[in-house]
Amino acid sequence: MRKPVIAGNWKMYKLLGEAVDTALALKALVANANHCDVVIAPVFTALKNVTSRLEGSNIKVAAQDCAAESKHGAHTGEVAADMIKDAGCSHVIVGHSERRQFYGETDATVNAKVKSALQAGLTPIVCVGEMLAEREAGNAQSVVKTQLQGGLDGLTVADTERIIIAYEPVWAIGTGKTATPEQAQEMHGVIRQSISEVHGKAVADGMRILYGGSVKPENIAELMSQDDVDGALVGGASLEADSFAKIVNYK
Ligand code: PEP
Repeated sequence: MRKPVIAGNWKMYKLLGEAVDTALALKALVANANHCDVVIAPVFTALKNVTSRLEGSNIKVAAQDCAAESKHGAHTGEVAADMIKDAGCSHVIVGHSERRQFYGETDATVNAKVKSALQAGLTPIVCVGEMLAEREAGNAQSVVKTQLQGGLDGLTVADTERIIIAYEPVWAIGTGKTATPEQAQEMHGVIRQSISEVHGKAVADGMRILYGGSVKPENIAELMSQDDVDGALVGGASLEADSFAKIVNYK
């Protein structure tokens, strides 16, 4: 049985006080949620405060990105994966479509970041997903497979077992346009099959594959009812503790 993961990506929202307040409100609302792993991803500047205040709770904390380089040194503006771990985090989002689209991240960059994260003992949440034009051209599956191959290149079976994948069709992110449960299921099946081809069925069967793209309290249960949907990566609807808690408590 795969334990679901419900993760909230707070993107570049929330000053320090707002991040801590939201985290504390959420802590109370999801205290009994044992059916899934709950993860929130605040901005870098709030990570340490949030992890300190959530100590002993069932909420895990992720960074939204990490440096590709793991060796400390002259990399102005970058944050190494072990620094993120040192701030009390357990997870890191890697290869979000906003990083790919607006900050030039390639599959090779994603691959280096995944390796750095694993080396530091973090769980990478690796994002993949096609653009609208790619789906309309019938290329959605090949785009996602290429992202997976590139992003996970060179990983051992043991490494791959520690990864979480988030399928986030770019046309569904922040648009209010959710993939249908059938569209999500179809792509999640393709992803699981690709993992199986490279690392074997046991690894693929154990891998948590999250859906992301306009997930809300109203559509989470239907998405979660699909066999290969093992959770959600939530942007907008994770910003308010109440709505994110409703998503966590979808059952
Ligand atoms: C995201 O940014 O990962 C995301 C899925 O955003 P939203 O839920 O707002 O579509």
